[in-house]
Amino acid sequence: METYADLLSAITPTTGETRTMFDPATGEAVGEAPVQGVDDLERAIAAATAAQPAWAALGHKERIAALLRAADAVDRSAENLAQLLSREQGKPLNGPNARFEVGACADWLRATASIELTAETAVDDGQTHAELHYRPIGVVGAIGPWNWPMMISVWQIAPALRMGNAVVLKPSEYTPLSVLALVQVLNEELPDGVLSVVCGGREVGARLAEHPAIGKIMFTGSTATGKAIIKSSAGTVKRLTLELGGNDAGIVLPDADPEAIAEDLFWGAFINTGQTCAALKRLYVHEDIYEEVCEALTAVAAAAPMGVGLVEANVLGPLQNKQQYDIVARLVQAAKDSGARVLLGGNPDPEQPGYFYPTTLVADIENNNPLVAEEQFGPALPIIRYSTVDEAVAMANGLDVGLGASVWSPNLGLARSVAARIEAGTVWINKHGAVDPRIPFGGSKQSGYGLEFGVDGLKALGIPQVING
Ligand code: NAD
Repeated sequence: METYADLLSAITPTTGETRTMFDPATGEAVGEAPVQGVDDLERAIAAATAAQPAWAALGHKERIAALLRAADAVDRSAENLAQLLSREQGKPLNGPNARFEVGACADWLRATASIELTAETAVDDGQTHAELHYRPIGVVGAIGPWNWPMMISVWQIAPALRMGNAVVLKPSEYTPLSVLALVQVLNEELPDGVLSVVCGGREVGARLAEHPAIGKIMFTGSTATGKAIIKSSAGTVKRLTLELGGNDAGIVLPDADPEAIAEDLFWGAFINTGQTCAALKRLYVHEDIYEEVCEALTAVAAAAPMGVGLVEANVLGPLQNKQQYDIVARLVQAAKDSGARVLLGGNPDPEQPGYFYPTTLVADIENNNPLVAEEQFGPALPIIRYSTVDEAVAMANGLDVGLGASVWSPNLGLARSVAARIEAGTVWINKHGAVDPRIPFGGSKQSGYGLEFGVDGLKALGIPQVING
């Protein structure tokens, strides 16, 4: 797509009912999304079912080549994709935001193409020869959230396509244009019908999850919706990968250097203005260095510009939607009402247009405060004081979710031993939320099940088949 206008016009419906999408930073119209329903879904599933056998028959080599060409297509349209993402989602172009997200799409496509997957010999003892292979599932349904709409779509699409499946994607109703644009670009290099998008609300998602022609659902979103999908998929015994909500803890050990870790702590919590599944959402700091960490973090946070996404200087943006803004405002209010100490922010400007909530740090807060116990999914971080590591680990493990967590200390051996005690799918050391297409990623407890990325991520998009003999 040569220009932004070309990209927008390629995804603008020429017939049918449409819905205007607005920039959450300015309220300006971004573009028109189709209003679609279960009939459109039926057509897309039929087209995917028809296209899938030929795609599977191409074999890994050809499909890898197509994924690599699709990555090049993303690179060619990168700036236009980033502009659209910034306008619709609200995230700034710079920082770990829109340009970063589009770059990650190309990176994930290439990395997923390059993973080696070979048959595993289970037994070969002269009498028995048994090998484990992975066959395509068929048509995979992908249901995504609004926070990282392009990148998470690629996380779902790339391994599914690589394994010989066709994909029908249902984007979040908050960010359909971003996903339509991404798929428009990917489809420059993919056969017809193999990858399609159906925009719609929860009725389209629910039908996708129960549809008999869909073999697997890749879902990223809230735990509540994950539970609904488990129920609606039960009738067809669908395979599921569920990446659900989190409330990640970070534990700063007493020997950490507050100045040295402040910047990484900040981005661990405030990446995408806090609207990230595996962001640091509860920070536990040892009492010996509590004030120093609070001070260093406040200095970094106060210096990070927040504003309209298309302004190059900004690295933090608005909340994507009013519903999320209200959640953040309610949780910060609960913290203030409890007498917690607001170090920064906490005072949204009612005159400011857009869903901007100021960067907020809250100290001296109890572990059972709603700002700690519930997922804020926005730019407000509670900082909880602890006295012993046992106490910190118990608080970190005290919730029914466990996506990510982090431990902060220059003593790697000590940090790893604390990490091993935390109930989370990933525990990072001296960083938080760093995902990598080579490293398996998934939740524990009610943060979901199944792994994405790496060879485990590929296997999750195939049906295991043993050939014995
Ligand atoms: P959400 O659950 O409200 O919506 C996600 C998607 O599910 C949307 O496309 C929505 O239309 C669809 N949906 C809603 N009801 C459905 C139903 N009954 N059946 C099928 N589909 C249905 O989530 P959200 O608000 O878009 O995203 C925010 C949440 O997602 C947060 O909790 C966050 O932690 C989580 N998240 C998790 C990860 C991860 O990797 N674990 C990544 C990003 C976001």
